[in-house]
Order: sequence, then C-alpha cells, then structure tokens
Amino acid sequence: MSDCLFCKIAAGEIPSDKVYEDELCYAFNDIAPQAPSHFLVIPKTHIDSVSEINGSNSTLVAHIFEVIAKITAEKGIKSYRVVSNIGEQAGQSVPHLHFHVLSGRDMTWPPG
Ligand code: 5GP
Ligand code: ZN
Repeated sequence: MSDCLFCKIAAGEIPSDKVYEDELCYAFNDIAPQAPSHFLVIPKTHIDSVSEINGSNSTLVAHIFEVIAKITAEKGIKSYRVVSNIGEQAGQSVPHLHFHVLSGRDMTWPPG
C-alpha cells in the first residue's frame, strides 16, 4: 500500500532501527518503547491487521511467529509478551499488521 508507514519502513524508504530481516518480514525497534526491549515484527506485504489473516496469508503469519522465537532466542530473551492491537478501540494506530514483542520488565495482567 503506497501510503502506509510500515510498508515504507519495510521497503527502507523510511529509516528504522532494524532488528531482523528476511524475504518475508522485517523487525525493528519501536520508536516509543513501552519496555526495555520493544520491537515490532511486520510482514513486508501489506495486511491491515489480524482481522485480515486467512488461508492465503497464514503461512506468512506462522513464519513471523517462527521469527519471533528465533530473535528472542538469539537475544536470550526468555520471557516476553507478544501483542497485536486490532482496530481503534484496542489501540491500533498503524493499519499494517504488526506484532509487538515486549520484554525486560514485570508485566501486569489484564493489560490496560
Ligand atoms: P499500534 O499502536 O498500532 O499497536 O502500534 C504501532 C506502534 O508503532 C507504536 O508502538 C508506535 O510507537 C510505533 N511507531 C509508530 N511510528 C513509528 C515509526 O515511524 N518508527 C518506529 N520504529 N515505530 C513507530
Ligand atoms: Zn502497509
């Protein structure tokens, strides 16, 4: 999607602090971290949110979760939270599928 912030970040058109990249996905540190470690993992192709996951793109989403396991293992992160906000009421501010990976502090439950 031409006007999408995260499509532009994935394409390298807007700079970001890269954590990981492969042919399918891109991971980068959040600009406003909510924990000592807070990075986002996004597909390189545009998907609006978890609501748009279906049989034609779920392999890509499974790959993203493999990548989350790989990045956290390599960083020695043993406990972390994966979050994806869907829609306005849940707090989604960028309409391109992304998984927040947060760690390095005690987490509360339920989330706010
Ligand atoms: P959401 O609010 O949609 O769940 O998450 C979007 C996240 O993207 C937020 O945590 C926000 O800080 C982050 N973000 C927004 N714009 C940028 C940006 O230009 N660069 C980076 N690295 N993160 C961003
Ligand atoms: Zn996009």
